Amino acid sequence: MNVNQSAPPVPPFGQPQPVYPGYHQSSYGGQPGSTAPPTPCGSYNGPVPGYQQTPHPGVSRAPPSSGALPSSTAQVPCGQGAYGQFGQGDVQNGPSSTVQMQRFPGSQPFGSAPLAPVVSQPTVLQPYGPPPTSAQVTAQLAGMQISGAVASAPHPSGLGYGPPTSLASASGSFPNSGLYGSYPQGQAPPLSQAQGHSGAHPPQRSAPQQASSFTPPASGGPRMPSVTGPLLQGQSFGGPPVSQPNHVSSPPPQALHPGTQMTGPPGPPPPMHSSQQPGYQLQQNGSFGPARGPQPNYGSPYPGAPPFSSQSGPQPLPPKRLDPDAIPSPQLNELPPQQKTRHRIDPDAIPSPIQVIEDDRNNRGSEPFVTGVRGQVPPLVTTNFLVKDQGNASPRYIRCTSYNIPCTSDMAKQAQVPLAAVIKPLAKLPPEEVSPYIVDHGESGPLRCNRCKAYMCPFMQFIEGGRRFQCCFCSCINDVPPQYFQHLDHTGKRVDAYDRPELYLGSYEFLATVDYCKNNKFPSPPAFIFMIDVSYNAIRSGLVRLLCEELKSLVDFLPREGGAEESAIRVGFVTYNKVLHFYNVKSSLAQPQMMVVSDVADMFVPLLDGFLVNVNESRAVITSLLDQIPEMFADTRETETVFAPVIQAGMEALKAAECAGKLFLFHTSLPIAEAPGKLKNRDDRKLINTDKEKTLFQPQTGVYQTLAKECVAQGCCVDLFLFPNQYVDVATLSVVPQLTGGSVYKYACFQVENDQERFVSDLRRDVQKVVGFDAVMRVRTSTGIRAVDFFGAFYMSNTTDVELAGLDGDKTVTVEFKHDDRLNEENGALLQCALLYTSCAGQRRLRIHNLALNCCTQLADLYRNCETDTLINYMAKFAYRGVLNSPVKTVRDTLITQCAQILACYRKNCASPSSAGQLILPECMKLLPVYLNCVLKSDVLQPGAEVTTDDRAYVRVLVTSMDVAETNVFFYPRLLPLTKSPIESTTEPPAVRASEERLSNGDIYLLENGLNLFIWVGASVQQGVVQSLFSVSSFSQITSGLSILPVLDNPLSKKVRGLIDSLRAQRSRYMKLIVVKQEDKLEMLFKHFLVEDKSLSGGASYVDFLCHMHKEIRQLLS
Ligand SMILES: [Zn+2]
Repeated sequence: MNVNQSAPPVPPFGQPQPVYPGYHQSSYGGQPGSTAPPTPCGSYNGPVPGYQQTPHPGVSRAPPSSGALPSSTAQVPCGQGAYGQFGQGDVQNGPSSTVQMQRFPGSQPFGSAPLAPVVSQPTVLQPYGPPPTSAQVTAQLAGMQISGAVASAPHPSGLGYGPPTSLASASGSFPNSGLYGSYPQGQAPPLSQAQGHSGAHPPQRSAPQQASSFTPPASGGPRMPSVTGPLLQGQSFGGPPVSQPNHVSSPPPQALHPGTQMTGPPGPPPPMHSSQQPGYQLQQNGSFGPARGPQPNYGSPYPGAPPFSSQSGPQPLPPKRLDPDAIPSPQLNELPPQQKTRHRIDPDAIPSPIQVIEDDRNNRGSEPFVTGVRGQVPPLVTTNFLVKDQGNASPRYIRCTSYNIPCTSDMAKQAQVPLAAVIKPLAKLPPEEVSPYIVDHGESGPLRCNRCKAYMCPFMQFIEGGRRFQCCFCSCINDVPPQYFQHLDHTGKRVDAYDRPELYLGSYEFLATVDYCKNNKFPSPPAFIFMIDVSYNAIRSGLVRLLCEELKSLVDFLPREGGAEESAIRVGFVTYNKVLHFYNVKSSLAQPQMMVVSDVADMFVPLLDGFLVNVNESRAVITSLLDQIPEMFADTRETETVFAPVIQAGMEALKAAECAGKLFLFHTSLPIAEAPGKLKNRDDRKLINTDKEKTLFQPQTGVYQTLAKECVAQGCCVDLFLFPNQYVDVATLSVVPQLTGGSVYKYACFQVENDQERFVSDLRRDVQKVVGFDAVMRVRTSTGIRAVDFFGAFYMSNTTDVELAGLDGDKTVTVEFKHDDRLNEENGALLQCALLYTSCAGQRRLRIHNLALNCCTQLADLYRNCETDTLINYMAKFAYRGVLNSPVKTVRDTLITQCAQILACYRKNCASPSSAGQLILPECMKLLPVYLNCVLKSDVLQPGAEVTTDDRAYVRVLVTSMDVAETNVFFYPRLLPLTKSPIESTTEPPAVRASEERLSNGDIYLLENGLNLFIWVGASVQQGVVQSLFSVSSFSQITSGLSILPVLDNPLSKKVRGLIDSLRAQRSRYMKLIVVKQEDKLEMLFKHFLVEDKSLSGGASYVDFLCHMHKEIRQLLS
């Protein structure tokens, strides 16, 4: 290797450097508790500040009458307003006054809408507000008809809204820190068992309200196999055995907090249940699906409904157990008596995610979903189904919270159901489905409405014999250009309608003309730049060697277009610690050349020619470079790194090459070296549950936002792979990836032996995935509603254009809509999402997705056509953005209030009259409480003692871009029994509910949530089973924390390993396995994911939360 620097053999890390004997950055911890000042970097992850304040010049329709944005952002220090749906930082932990929490004027969710009284409960200490009087509790609980529910009376810790109890858990990295990977994945995986809810179509009922316009798919095609994400080539699961030292944290000894349990006085047993008001069932929208096996009681009054006070009331019927041989866990035995009573409530009596998912699969999985009918609710994301595009975009591209929108904003405000769409413009389709056709309209470019600029689509109306068309979005009459003219048939349809994808399909692409290109110039093919941290930690962990080895082959798998023989993408390489090293890998060189840039304050790219090269042409030089890098830095003592200059350098290189592209950054530590973007350690757990907690999620400097803006302008997307041994400030380092449409991966305490497989799998998938560059997305709507808010990984410089330096098939953008006028039932409402992007071959294209929704004048129609999974996706993103500006307690309370309002509105306006003591849920939303509770007790909103600040920031970033299937399984994990079904059975075992009560100590279970994968082994599992799976003779010999199963030649072993492979293939991030033994200390980690149970951090159990929700609803109704 030639180093063209004055002192040739200079170590690449050329600068004089202090020699740190240890790798631990001594300078870490220097400013332990320092809290970063609120930074100007507000728009991270959300619309930029200006976004909410500035009316966009280009908006094609008149601003809504209510359009002026509230000045809530005004009081906010620079930038913070960007996130602002919540009020500013002065919001105290207590009740929100009406002043805070402003959103857009019409904003329902968190606005201080008229329906929001509940939120303002005066007490701060009571998680759910003041303890109800005993009478109230009694009445409520009676109404719930839940047996033995005394303990479910709201109480601070029990419901989880109090401060997290401090646990004596091991400090240090929670296993999570290494586990959070993320994932996404649009297509409903075949075996997918996550959950969902049967929001789809309400069972027929003779409801007072008229039936919605939902039309079930007509044709009954054969059930197709579902698609799983393609495995990465070369991916093998047989890597070296991986142990997980860093994941083993000693569990909190006695997690439960006895004393704090009960505040709600158990009232006298209510007479209520005797009425036998069929709670759920009466409300027929609600029959809870066909009764089946273990959960026979849906649709009928809670079984054994009696006394929620098992102590004072009549004895409840013995609780039903799904699993009779389930044994109480040791922890359970140690519970105080009151807590035990909680378990008396029959969990089978409350809506079950598993049941809903299964019902939907049975009802809707066998026929294709045909998109020809307006306002059809698609099957759940957990159902495996095929889609036939007949004029509306596939649910793989767009899912809505409701497929029937209230006609007026008043109705919408009353219902409080957020109107939002989760859009995944480049979603990958299963092979059985057809990718969008590419339409070429030649030099004239795609045909658009002259006024609103909407693109030609199946909903445009041709008139005057085909000479003109009326825009379906703005009603403008446009001339049809001569070259596009066609006659109409007797129905007014163009006779060539089925020859043109844009006239009969929901999704298609247009080739863009030069007018759609930057500087009126067709783009060059994009480039990938690999930027590798070669500081001490990176070398020592084995990362650099592993990465360089992997890259040698991976460069042959860069994304390519269709049948192209080789990828058009060029590659470049940079290494860095506190200086940067650029490499010339021009094909004519015998050896790569290194150029060192030590002036990181004023970054420039020292070479143009030879930096970005074609892989095939320069293969020998690239291979040589990748062989040399680990050797060159093998003896480095440099521990300090820079970060912003690295991104700057990559972006400048793309700029110099006049192309878009992607930077792959592999980074290990907090960038403390003197340079722009230098950071300090400001982690401070003491801030949790204080008003300053939000600062932990905010970037500590505005440098990265400024940098991100430049990257977006250049079409430079940044993917960040982090390998931290301690705090690295994910909140700040992820700003650029977030704003450029990139991805973040985190491997805490990375060691090659332990983490190789996960990292390499993620890297391969990330490098190979198809990505669009330099993209702009615009969502147009028909008159009456408009897009007002956006969530995801992107940048916005105005109120309508979502700018994405890069966008891959895993990323979603969630869009919220508001009324700006009246809608009508006849016309419905239309959405058109247009994504302008540069393909990986450098072709400029427009991808168009259209979706037509129904509109209603009856609230019941709204409630019959909701999609709870999508609603949760929206609410989680909304809440996770809210933590940037408000105390998490405020965020949680806001979610609870909104949920209560949604359900109270239903009860008041749509349900048949019945006792107020009954909890009545709309069929489509019967899982809203259980799922919402999972969001509320997630690590971001209610962290346990073992969750690090970086983990929380990381999860926040991941969730922001998740699609509906991902949020679904992330918040409510799948728990699969492995040893219950016959070994011969080839289908995935039916899932069980995520609760300890469902675990039998004689069985083995698998749990996954898209990021984490566990196998839980019961203490009484048969020896034969243990032998078959683990190759050891007894339970005690199984290694706790094992991360790879031995490859054994027997049916059980093959089946389980096959299942794991299949689950991994469905997710976009590699899930590392952890084997957990019952009663082992690692079990605490596993239990964190049993989301129906009360969590150690104080999160409410499902039953408790449902009781609380009932109380909130009753308060709203009274
Ligand atoms: Zn128009």
